[in-house]
Amino acid sequence: MSNPIIKCTVDQCTHYMPGDQCMAAKVSVYNEEERGQSKGAEDTQCKSFHQRKTVGDMLGALHNVNIGGTVSAPFLDGKQITPVVECFVNNCTHWQEGNACNAGNIHVAGPNAGKTQDTDCETFRNS
Ligand code: SF4
Ligand code: SF4
Repeated sequence: MSNPIIKCTVDQCTHYMPGDQCMAAKVSVYNEEERGQSKGAEDTQCKSFHQRKTVGDMLGALHNVNIGGTVSAPFLDGKQITPVVECFVNNCTHWQEGNACNAGNIHVAGPNAGKTQDTDCETFRNS
């Protein structure tokens, strides 16, 4: 697996951090099931999305938090969090064997997302 830098604007997600960062330890990108193979970014989804509803939900998401290394979420001091990215969208030009992504940066978006299918990897390019 590789580690593109994630810029995420899905502020409805429990893993979202101000500054458009993701504090998940791992981010999994999939095709939307019903289509099988993605033709555009809208067909992709961040399966690690978890809708923020209550403060208790923040605790529920703690199994997938990037607490390794020097990152301490409330005290970022401008440090970049870099979750591991695994991707199953194998017809994207950035996809590599081992379900890796070789893009330097990816952009995850999904205005007012309520479920994983509402999120997209905007960096997807059909190969
Ligand atoms: S939608 Fe995905 S990339 Fe964005 S904050 Fe949530 S888990 Fe991270
Ligand atoms: S850019 Fe392509 S390979 Fe990388 S995470 Fe997005 S869809 Fe997957």
